Amino acid sequence: RADTAMYSIKKGGKAGMGIFRIEDQQAELDMRQALQKGELELYYQPIVDSVTGYPVSYEALLRWNHPQRGLVSPVEAIEAAEKAGLIEQVDLWVLREACLAQRMLSPEKRIHVNITVKSLRDPYFVELAAEVFVQTQCPPEKIEIELNETTQRLDASHILPQMLRLSEWGVTFSLDDLGSRSSSGIGLLQELPVATLKIDRMLIRNAQQNPVSRAMIRGIMGLSRELDLSVVAEGVETEEQRALLVSLGCRELQGYHFSRPQPLGRLRPEPRSYLREEIVFGKDAGGGL
Ligand code: C2E
Ligand code: MG
Ligand code: MG
Ligand code: MG
Repeated sequence: RADTAMYSIKKGGKAGMGIFRIEDQQAELDMRQALQKGELELYYQPIVDSVTGYPVSYEALLRWNHPQRGLVSPVEAIEAAEKAGLIEQVDLWVLREACLAQRMLSPEKRIHVNITVKSLRDPYFVELAAEVFVQTQCPPEKIEIELNETTQRLDASHILPQMLRLSEWGVTFSLDDLGSRSSSGIGLLQELPVATLKIDRMLIRNAQQNPVSRAMIRGIMGLSRELDLSVVAEGVETEEQRALLVSLGCRELQGYHFSRPQPLGRLRPEPRSYLREEIVFGKDAGGGL
């Protein structure tokens, strides 16, 4: 396949004269097998409207069912893919899979996908992404790409041309993990076309005790109003956190309080509320997890 050949050449360049360490070779073997044998899977977590309880969109999260090791965390899977020089192929797989799921989940809702900056630096990745949209017939405006790299790794000028092309087709972008110590932060807003701010779960976790965290959330909300951006709070685990976020003006919430990430087949059939009281008191009759 053409894309495989292209990425092999690049990988040789990156590792220097084509010499690999043994653990890199193992990672490459494992990840190649994962792609070929269908060991990768996407789970989906709803982003919920805190007032109606209905999903607004879904975030796709990578799972790796490793034959020996069992379920491998996405952070480790992405690391292995990077070591193996297969990250662009994994990102492309994620995009294709999410596009295929988009229409099954809900034709009018967006799916968020996490794509590495490594891939977004590559103009060829954007060409392959265009093919994915055509092949899957998923409208690009139904895909939102989450950016979550650390400051050191995110050089805005290297990804801007690719982001602008994707934006022209209707793809939107989130800044992920805002307020976490590793996030690139709001400075990127000055340079990149961003539609959504995602508040990191550490800020949410601290918000009840720490007035600084609350002030930061208010600041993000103020910024979003002024710049007309959406905001999603991540890692909402309790009713108290939900209520606090609503009082701070944050309407789109994501977290275990509403739903854990689920395989496609185990998501609640739409339309169905994720508000706890409705689940507990059975107002949402029918269907089931
Ligand atoms: P993220 O993009 O910030 O995703 C949110 C993470 O928080 C997910 O972890 C999700 O399962 C978890 N989460 C959701 N609600 C709650 C909650 O209420 N409490 C707690 N404690 N955690 C919650 P996950 O799935 O392990 O993914 C971790 C990270 O790995 C993601 O962080 C993202 O940076 C990366 N990742 C995941 N899937 C992909 C992918 O397909 N491609 C790439 N490149 N990176 C991915
Ligand atoms: Mg994310
Ligand atoms: Mg996040
Ligand atoms: Mg994260």
